[in-house]
Amino acid sequence: MSGCSYDTVCSRCGGKMICYSDWKPFDAVTGICLDCGFRINTVTQLASLKEVNEERELFELEPVKSLKQPTQGWIKGGYEEYLE
Ligand SMILES: [Zn+2]
Repeated sequence: MSGCSYDTVCSRCGGKMICYSDWKPFDAVTGICLDCGFRINTVTQLASLKEVNEERELFELEPVKSLKQPTQGWIKGGYEEYLE
């Protein structure tokens, strides 16, 4: 585990929310409100080539012809399994 736990105020009910934030191997936050049950989970997905190029256009970047492959470290770490 490389992250940290923290308490915060629930946006939904104003109750007590327990969260855990991690930054390895990528930024992710999970949390649950101990009063109303509101739950947060970072969703990890792989966008399509079309979606990536639409996003690049917003930043005035040239479109790419294919999506970059993951690093060996990513593959060896088994992180591809995090993708939904
Ligand atoms: Zn709540």
